[in-house]
Amino acid sequence: MNQALVAGRDYPNTYREFVGMFPDVQACTAYLTRMRWPKGFICPSCGVASTPWNQSRQRLVCTACRHQTTVTADTIFDKTRTPLTTWFEAAWHVTTAKNGMSAKTLERTLGARYRVAWTMLQRFRVAMVNAERKSLSGEVEVDETLVGGLQKGGKRGRGVSKSVVVIAVEIKQPKGFGRVRMRHVPNASSASLLPFVRDVVTPGAVVHTDGWKGYNGLPEYGYTRKETVLSSSGDPAHVSMPGVHRVASLLKRWILGTHQRSVVPAHLQSYLEEFTFRFNRRTSRSRGLVFRRLLEQAVVTKPVTDADVTDGYDWLSHCASPARRS
Ligand SMILES: [Zn+2]
Repeated sequence: MNQALVAGRDYPNTYREFVGMFPDVQACTAYLTRMRWPKGFICPSCGVASTPWNQSRQRLVCTACRHQTTVTADTIFDKTRTPLTTWFEAAWHVTTAKNGMSAKTLERTLGARYRVAWTMLQRFRVAMVNAERKSLSGEVEVDETLVGGLQKGGKRGRGVSKSVVVIAVEIKQPKGFGRVRMRHVPNASSASLLPFVRDVVTPGAVVHTDGWKGYNGLPEYGYTRKETVLSSSGDPAHVSMPGVHRVASLLKRWILGTHQRSVVPAHLQSYLEEFTFRFNRRTSRSRGLVFRRLLEQAVVTKPVTDADVTDGYDWLSHCASPARRS
């Protein structure tokens, strides 16, 4: 199998290395094969490990049960008509550009149709959420923020909607922030806030909140609530929630800058997932590692339908923790 190594690394560090590693569809297929079956092919139908026959360049046939499959079947690349070289190029730009790329910029950069660029981005964003399975722990700030001006081409203030986003940020001692998680919620009721905390924060964690009653139920679920009541002088919330405030302002800047406000509420959660994936890897020693991580997730993430891409993905059923799903 093509090991695609550069100087002992199985990921590229520069665009030049990227081009050298992935010159054609075959190289991309070999890479995905290694990501999906790191210990060798396992038949998705009968579960037997074997060296499959290559019926054609892409088609693998299980020697035990004759089941035919491809490395992209049942993943986010399922049934795509876009060549893998284009997918890889998109993954490279999305993970290595400092602030990522909008579908419009990607369309121009790849010379692909807008719909193709948008579809790839949306499917990658679903793969990104799978990379964020591990719950936040230790000390965590939780607060809501309003993300506004989310309508395409609209002028600020008119016909523009604001959405409530609840943000959780790990607080490191003596200073600094750890990982984040965020969710677009319909409102700031406890019915919206508590399930989010239960999905993303490990029970036993210390959860810093303001005095809002929506968080009153936290102790029932095993959290220690540390409440900062704002003074009546009207201190803005960020004084007591520096982590959330910082992350919220980065998020808003990213939506305004990279995406030029062209985010509709139905897709807001997708953007939040990408922001989270990027933010949680901000200290990664190599962007190439982030690129590899995205592809690794892409081949273990179930297909995304066209309806999900067009109308918005059903994040809630996807994000709920196993404890809450049962
Ligand atoms: Zn089989």
